Amino acid sequence: MQETNHNKSAKQDLVLAPGPVNLHPSVQTALALPMIHHRTPEFDLILREALAKLKKVFQTDQPVFISTSTGSGGMECLLVNTLSKGDLVLCIESGKFGERWKEMAQTYGAEVHTLKVNWGEAVNPNDVHEFLKKNPRTSLVLCQACETSTGTSHPIEALGKIIQQFKDTLFLVDGITALGAEPLPMKDWFIDGLVGGSQKAFMLPTGMSLLSFSEKAWKKVLVADTPRYYFDVRRELKANQKGETFFSSNVTLIRALNVVLDLILKPDLSGHFAEIKQRGDFARDIAQLMGFTLFSKAPARALTALTVPDGFDSQKIRLQLEKNHHITIMGGQDQAQGKILRIGHMGYIQWPQMIDLMEKIYLTMTEINPSWKAPITLTELQKKMREYKTHG
Ligand SMILES: *Cc1c(COP(=O)(O)O)cnc(C)c1O
Repeated sequence: MQETNHNKSAKQDLVLAPGPVNLHPSVQTALALPMIHHRTPEFDLILREALAKLKKVFQTDQPVFISTSTGSGGMECLLVNTLSKGDLVLCIESGKFGERWKEMAQTYGAEVHTLKVNWGEAVNPNDVHEFLKKNPRTSLVLCQACETSTGTSHPIEALGKIIQQFKDTLFLVDGITALGAEPLPMKDWFIDGLVGGSQKAFMLPTGMSLLSFSEKAWKKVLVADTPRYYFDVRRELKANQKGETFFSSNVTLIRALNVVLDLILKPDLSGHFAEIKQRGDFARDIAQLMGFTLFSKAPARALTALTVPDGFDSQKIRLQLEKNHHITIMGGQDQAQGKILRIGHMGYIQWPQMIDLMEKIYLTMTEINPSWKAPITLTELQKKMREYKTHG
């Protein structure tokens, strides 16, 4: 076979999107290792290690599963293992990902009631409480911990406290941009099903989701009548107990996961969470000096959604930033299209890159609109950013 250099086209981009994210060098090294077979003692050990470390991130004593599917597959896995035909499901919908979970539940024949929340706002836990009091037969409540399309955090701890009082109701949480980026202790917060995603807070390439069920949820997992095969966690649990996965293991990603979990857990989770929070605080403070406003009333930790100043199209800023400065951030979708920029704080990010990002956004805005009356000069902004670091 002829050798080709596929890397030729890969310029060194700085990926500051809310997933996928910049990879840590030690993760890249792990990804480049030669293949080993998954039915070997060598791989069994890696899998056992990764599964044990995952429990610490989920903060649960229940088994955690690794699924070779993107985050959406993990959401579907939580659903098909707990849902039965005709179940009443309450879906909190505050953006694109809430909408997706609603559609999945409808696809599987659930009777879905949608609790609509304005984009950029967090759900009011009292609204969920009222619904459950009127509809105690509700089987599942679905919610994003962080709604990535709007950069908004939902009050998961408060929701968990309410939902656990209802014996027939499970609380399923999409933590794809929260789990691994901020505190989300599954057991203490009464979360019954939790999913994380590889290319988001787990700082890996796309293609893997991580999930777990509470003890309360397992009672439903054993009897739920939704047809399931690939996503049947009962089968996977038996295989994991023997140190294997039921289907072929995603050796490459699981090896990299085992490396990334050490980065997340050392010295401890709180240090990792603090770094992410600091990047978010910085982005929000500096962006506001530049004339942006915060799109979300309850800003998330894993990403920041910024409303662009009047007269700017966010999509234009984003595309030009990528073309001229090789920095990738995201715009908005649907009703937020052209109005917001979304900056990810997950992944391998060094402090100078945060400063570079904000500078390059500033420059891009002056390139797009030379008559822009910026509320701060670039020199002043640079000074603020240098000072910010010393305070951080
Ligand atoms: C990215 C994301 C998803 C979807 O994950 P995929 O890996 O694209 O399937 C679901 N929920 C949230 C909150 C996300 O950020």
